[in-house]
Amino acid sequence: MVLDSLGASLKSALQKLANAGKVDKEVIDEVVKDIQRAMIQADVNVKLVMRLSGRIRERALTEAPPPGMDSREHVLRIVYAELVNIIGKATPVALEPQTIMMVGLQGSGKTTTTAKLARYFARKGLKPAVICADTYRPGAYDQLSQLCAKLGVTFYGERDNKDAVAIVRNGLRETAKYDVRIVDTAGRHALETGLIKEMKDIAALANFTHRFLVLDAAIGQQASEQAKAFNDAVGITGVIITKLDGTAKGGGALSAVSDTNTSIAFIGVGETPEGLERFDPDGFISRLLGMGDLKALVEKANEVLSQKDVNVEKMMSGRFTLNDMYAQLEAINKMGPLKQIMSMLPLGGLGANITDDVYKMTQDKLLSYRIIMDSMTEAEKEDPKLIGSSRIMRIARGSGRSPEDVRELLKYHKMMQKAMKGMKGGPGRANLKKLMK
Ligand code: GDP
Repeated sequence: MVLDSLGASLKSALQKLANAGKVDKEVIDEVVKDIQRAMIQADVNVKLVMRLSGRIRERALTEAPPPGMDSREHVLRIVYAELVNIIGKATPVALEPQTIMMVGLQGSGKTTTTAKLARYFARKGLKPAVICADTYRPGAYDQLSQLCAKLGVTFYGERDNKDAVAIVRNGLRETAKYDVRIVDTAGRHALETGLIKEMKDIAALANFTHRFLVLDAAIGQQASEQAKAFNDAVGITGVIITKLDGTAKGGGALSAVSDTNTSIAFIGVGETPEGLERFDPDGFISRLLGMGDLKALVEKANEVLSQKDVNVEKMMSGRFTLNDMYAQLEAINKMGPLKQIMSMLPLGGLGANITDDVYKMTQDKLLSYRIIMDSMTEAEKEDPKLIGSSRIMRIARGSGRSPEDVRELLKYHKMMQKAMKGMKGGPGRANLKKLMK
């Protein structure tokens, strides 16, 4: 998994939050300290760690949780949002004809990533060609030409030519008909003036759409120095962090991105050509924190909480009318069959108590309930206990449904009402624990 140990220590910091009796200043301070420790161990630079933890602490201590959200979930969301914020948005990569220049030190994974990128664009229906300008590392030519042959990607190279600039010039001319042209440049063992000059000369040959810096996730604090040097030389448009599958650290590379004000375009998560993923900040942090699709949770929760019809406080007070139930079902329906997510929501604390049927409730079913409810009096909708068997028959007839349909509706109401009552004690903590598993 990506950044296993950072993920594990962040998770254990958040576990403290889940286990705490109540979320007070002391708990927040402790959690923030744990987060700091976890990030420093993962090679995130200290300045960045302080900035991040300062923001988390301040927000956790001053912002009140929105109605219906418990303070643990609130703090958790702050941590999540600030982590996402710090790594920023992903570099936009358009699926259209373009030229790409790859830069980075030797061993960073540049050649492998070049092939992966070619594959990526080919799978999106674009015709890629790869140009090998790595005249420095013996074997780079063969490695890339073989990878391309395996992938069925056009390869351009000049085995015996040492003039990388000339090769790129020729290569760009020869591959003019291709949609996406990717130039793999030579790295060096360290930042050298020769390398920087070569990168500048190549960059000047074309108006490259992207100049991607390839960074090995394991390089630690030197990442920033590399990123700055390459950025000054050619103007990095995005970073590709490789070997995230194999490292416990990776924080250095993440810091470099923040330091140079660039963003991450892709991540390398394996040696084979499939091991490349488009970078997704939310998904990345969710995975890091071991929360599955927390992004979806946050979005859905916001959506539900913003629904005027769903009056959480009123429902929690035990007064749960048929109209409330309808609003709930509508909200659940809107969210699709996301049972796990529901069970994490303040509202969906009832997730544990409700049968799968509710989640599978279709639009048709909802419409049918609406029609049945239209045949009830306001008083009955407010207090369904008033509905006796003769009223069930009458409502069924009035709405053109069967008495079983009416009874089913009432049964759901009863079940949800019970679940609502069970929520009064605050489901947030239990749900947060579930979330951490
Ligand atoms: P270059 O010198 O920058 O062109 O580096 P290479 O492309 O030759 O990669 C160096 C080593 O890193 C090779 O053994 C690759 O297989 C390996 N590598 C590259 N990307 C990844 C990755 O995302 N995950 C893993 N596990 N290995 C990678």
